[in-house]
Amino acid sequence: LIELKDVAKSYGKNQVLNNISLKVAKGEVIVLIGPSGCGKSTLLRCLNGLEEIQGGSVLFRNEDLTAKNTDWKKIRQQVGMVFQSYHLFPHMTVMENILLGPTKVQKRTKEEALQQAEALLQRVGLSDKKNAYPRQLSGGQQQRIAIVRALMMNPVVMLFDEVTAALDPEMVKEVLDVMLSLAKEGMTMMIVTHEMSFARAIADRVIFMDSGHICEIGEPQTFFTSPQTPRAQQFLKQFI
Ligand code: ATP
Ligand code: MG
Repeated sequence: LIELKDVAKSYGKNQVLNNISLKVAKGEVIVLIGPSGCGKSTLLRCLNGLEEIQGGSVLFRNEDLTAKNTDWKKIRQQVGMVFQSYHLFPHMTVMENILLGPTKVQKRTKEEALQQAEALLQRVGLSDKKNAYPRQLSGGQQQRIAIVRALMMNPVVMLFDEVTAALDPEMVKEVLDVMLSLAKEGMTMMIVTHEMSFARAIADRVIFMDSGHICEIGEPQTFFTSPQTPRAQQFLKQFI
């Protein structure tokens, strides 16, 4: 579904991604971990055009995203992304926030989008909040709404960049549970997280990055019990 070939990205002289090659199959859940600044967010951002790359190629459904004529509007509907901060529009209700993309970008009818919105809100346990404003919600609730908003576009892949990092501990689980249920349903996902037990539970493959390289890649069981590289061993120690 996604194929990165020798992807290179730099900011000025600072090479942030070095020859990253990776294939992600449909339905696969990839967890990216690694020290701060190693390039995890940059890698995700390359997949929906938030970053331009200097070398290599990114294929999505066999389409080369480095091509000049890439239709990013179309790609971004298919590649949903959720960040650490939720970016909901403060002056709009939950329902208005959720319906904005489908009706304005995808030109779907309000009635049809509304049905999907109701179903998704129910699924994340927030049906009763549809008329609330974002400030009336907890962080965990806002983040679940941000996930619903991304799902409303019927994406083919979901990218999650530290979506629980800003949440109080008691709200982390409700967000991770939504992600687990998406994984069970077969959603293709790439997830950056520092929640190691979650990573272990959800990942089909774990990628450990360091200084813009993929240092190690493997099944979670193998990676977490016997990491091969000293760098990964050292990194994992801080979580014990
Ligand atoms: P963290 O765990 O802290 O989120 P990360 O692995 O997501 O880290 P990135 O945000 O991808 O790391 O950053 C990788 C490198 O790129 C860092 O050295 C960072 O300073 C640099 N970088 C990121 N964004 C920019 C930018 N817009 N301009 C210049 N340098 C940047
Ligand atoms: Mg980051």
